Amino acid sequence: MPRMPTPPAPLAASPAASEPPADALEEWRRIVGPEHVRTAEAERLDWGRRTFAPDVRVSAVVSPGDADQTAACLAVATRHRLPVHPVSRGANWGLGSRAPTRDGAVVLDLRRLDRISGFDGERGLVRVEAGVTFQALAAFLAERTDRFFVPVIGGPAEASALANALDRGDGSMGERWTSLCELEVALPDGRRLRTGCGPLGAERTAGLDPAPAGPLIDGLFSQSNLGVVTSAVIRLEAMPSDLAILSVDIGGLDALPAFLELWRDCQCEQSLPDRSLTLWNGIKWLALDDVRAAVPTDRLAPAALNEWHASALIRAEAPEVLEARAGRLSRRFAAVSQTVELDIARRDGAWIEGFEDWLGVPDGRNLRTVYWRKDRHPDLAAADPDRDGCGLIWLCLAFPFEFQALADYLTWARERLEHAGIDLNVGIESNGFRCLLTYFTLGFDREMPGADEAALAAYRDLIETALERGFAPYRLANGLPVPEALRRSPAAALLTELRAVGDPAGILSPGRNGIG
Ligand SMILES: Cc1cc2nc3c(=O)[nH]c(=O)nc-3n(C[C@H](O)[C@H](O)[C@H](O)COP(=O)(O)OP(=O)(O)OC[C@H]3O[C@@H](n4cnc5c(N)ncnc54)[C@H](O)[C@@H]3O)c2cc1C
Repeated sequence: MPRMPTPPAPLAASPAASEPPADALEEWRRIVGPEHVRTAEAERLDWGRRTFAPDVRVSAVVSPGDADQTAACLAVATRHRLPVHPVSRGANWGLGSRAPTRDGAVVLDLRRLDRISGFDGERGLVRVEAGVTFQALAAFLAERTDRFFVPVIGGPAEASALANALDRGDGSMGERWTSLCELEVALPDGRRLRTGCGPLGAERTAGLDPAPAGPLIDGLFSQSNLGVVTSAVIRLEAMPSDLAILSVDIGGLDALPAFLELWRDCQCEQSLPDRSLTLWNGIKWLALDDVRAAVPTDRLAPAALNEWHASALIRAEAPEVLEARAGRLSRRFAAVSQTVELDIARRDGAWIEGFEDWLGVPDGRNLRTVYWRKDRHPDLAAADPDRDGCGLIWLCLAFPFEFQALADYLTWARERLEHAGIDLNVGIESNGFRCLLTYFTLGFDREMPGADEAALAAYRDLIETALERGFAPYRLANGLPVPEALRRSPAAALLTELRAVGDPAGILSPGRNGIG
């Protein structure tokens, strides 16, 4: 039996709606400059907004300008026992937005850490600080290389490339988390830590070998509250010489078993690389182009379970290889689907006109899907689901790569969500032939009385039922109840003990993912 960890002494009572103590504010002002410590009420309200209820009360926003200042700010919070929550860009809509994990906390806003401080165009390495956005990184790379790209998310272009990877986000054609190495971390007690080869003096393999001898501690800083990562090296993906896009209209649930079997085979033989195929149900597809109110009612019911669409990226090392591989895959997918369309996007190292943005360029277009319950889609440049009152919770669940387990759960989930007035909106990816990674968009109309409570109850049921059936979540929203199975796991007990080492006052995002 794991020993139950001793929790740190309670944090300083931070009167929820008021500022932190004057001497703490003064110390922060000295470190970062007075203009970078903000306590105006409107701003505090803004930083505490989320896409689900209730909002969180923020006591101040402190914006360090570099890693040294970040560590010094954390040390102040530890001395004063004040809870602090790091935000790299705060585009975390549906997963807790930029709100802290508890009322009265200070937000550590890392947007000023926006330097791209190293680039190796030979080996495809780039060091980014926490505040570097996908958009900024894409622009940086576009000017310097056509050999490498960063796998971008389907979400906001203004999200942080580093925070997303730390959060084990999903990107097209590449793993986000495993691309990181050589982390620079600020611990809550003010110490600094570097992982990887660099601190061993092995500079020549820094960034190249992410796993020098000894226990790998990088993982401790993923989805965690053990430290604030101020920068890291991203190992970029190699740009394929040739690329094709396969768009598949699969049909209904009855067509999915054969489709999934083929997808799994392709993953196994690696004719489709990991994270290269995305499967969406009809609702998710519709939400990209329309708001719900504009869709004829009789289109909605079948779109939940009986319409499935997929898009796959096929890469190759030469045009003739692409032709053979894409042709073969088209024929195989056509045999299990309604229609298949093939587009060549890149040939012999050059983009075909109109496809230039297919890899490594974020467009944020999927943000439209968050406005499904609104009157109209927003102007993407100005969209802010927190401020626009969108109801959104992401539910991220892993399933075995098999039809029945998935179909049974989806069929049940659809009914459960319907009770809460929520459409089944689901996307599915895979990081290999063993596992399917699903993401449910729980989109609800916050103007409807009781909608928030109904959505939260449905979220709880969905996650608990998944666990009862043997399926684990792979990412959790900040600020929502963490299932007991995770809170009480042996790993959680050990992590809580480890937290006491660098975070003696337990100030960093207390309770995040059930830890501390
Ligand atoms: C329509 C839509 C589509 C989306 N599509 C995707 C998708 O395809 N893939 C995907 O992964 N996500 C997706 N998301 C979810 C989300 O937008 C992204 O994960 C986004 O990267 C999170 O915002 P951010 O990068 O600004 O991180 P932040 O909001 O800054 O942080 C995210 C989390 O990491 C912690 N954190 C931040 N910085 C640090 C740090 N330096 N050190 C330690 N911890 C830190 C924060 O406390 C927070 O818990 C989507 C969201 C929407 C609304």
